[in-house]
Amino acid sequence: MKLEDIILIDKENYMNTFGERTPVCFEYGKGVYLYSSDGKKYTDLFAGIAVNILGHGHPALTEAICSQAKKLIHCSNLYYNEPQALLAQKLNGLIGGGYKMFFANSGAEANEGAIKLARAYFNKKGMPYKNEIITMNHSFHGRTVTTITATAQPKYQKYFTPLTPGFKYSEPNDIEMLENTVNEHTCAVMLEIIQGESGVYPMTENFLDKVRELCREKDILLIIDEVQTGIGRTGSMFAYQNTKVKPDIFTLAKALGGGVPIGAVCASDEVAPAFSPGDHGTTFGGNPLACAAALAVLETVEKESIIDNVNETGKYFFETLEKIKKETGSIKEIRGRGLMIGIEFNEPCAVNVKNRLFEKGYLVGSVGNNILRILPPLIFNKENVEDFAKVLSEIINGGSV
Ligand SMILES: *Cc1c(COP(=O)(O)O)cnc(C)c1O
Repeated sequence: MKLEDIILIDKENYMNTFGERTPVCFEYGKGVYLYSSDGKKYTDLFAGIAVNILGHGHPALTEAICSQAKKLIHCSNLYYNEPQALLAQKLNGLIGGGYKMFFANSGAEANEGAIKLARAYFNKKGMPYKNEIITMNHSFHGRTVTTITATAQPKYQKYFTPLTPGFKYSEPNDIEMLENTVNEHTCAVMLEIIQGESGVYPMTENFLDKVRELCREKDILLIIDEVQTGIGRTGSMFAYQNTKVKPDIFTLAKALGGGVPIGAVCASDEVAPAFSPGDHGTTFGGNPLACAAALAVLETVEKESIIDNVNETGKYFFETLEKIKKETGSIKEIRGRGLMIGIEFNEPCAVNVKNRLFEKGYLVGSVGNNILRILPPLIFNKENVEDFAKVLSEIINGGSV
């Protein structure tokens, strides 16, 4: 089908939630490349928003999906399910033991589960008044009514009031403000180690240490949203593993299934039993197909030393971008870790740069007018970085910004 025809059908039949999308339709992908219906090749530096960590068409993932699909796709959570049990075991091994999992279908759903679990934990301890969750300004936790409430960005909340009661907001990296926001009703503090959607803003190590300490002292659960940072993105399997803190509950989604929808709530053995039979559930979550895909992703990440690659390629990527920053003077700051990168420009040129990159066959994201967001597949290598950096510095030097 021609792109124009697809766009026409879309405009007539699909809700206009995504506005003017980038005018391209991808037909297939291989490795870090995507191929459009009009035969153009693109280098993917966005990975379906931090999802396709193994790139496109990875044989181990494709094979796992195909062979599971031939056996059994879905059978409900009324029965036991081998891929689900094995995936939970695999994650527990990667965590280092002492946790239990619940599988959902998306990041928002995993975060809903985490919030429910935190409230249930204190309810069942006889402290139903401990039910408030504190999240960070500029966070992103999803699009359901409760997770937009957790998402401390008014633009996502404004048409959907009344919001879910029991949420308070604090400023990232401001421990004093958090201490003043905590009270006897606080049941959890929920945060991202690096805020992704709002522009790649890391929490400092000092702040995280103090949050952990505060939570322990005041009997508050620490929930870490690893939906974007999880599964190798920042150079460790989970981003918290690069810090000194360990969450009571953390959530995964995006990269976990390598493109097949799956989310996870991971909770410590102390907290997980707060869900007793009937308290939480899902029809699709943890189905054999999604779990087989996620298992293949995790096994491949280990087998192909993907995390070593994230650290090597990430280091080289940051060094290369710092050079461009020095040479051009148009970049204000480069933020992030591993292969989760934000480039903030001095001028509001990010959308322009993104569009010029698209014309040259490179896919990146942007936040507002000043920030480029780069989230390549975790198989990205140094040549891919060099290739991209050359085009990026040409665009910046070309005076179009
Ligand atoms: C993308 C994202 C979510 C929401 O995930 P969905 O699968 O879109 O519901 C939640 N938290 C973080 C940190 C995210 O990046």
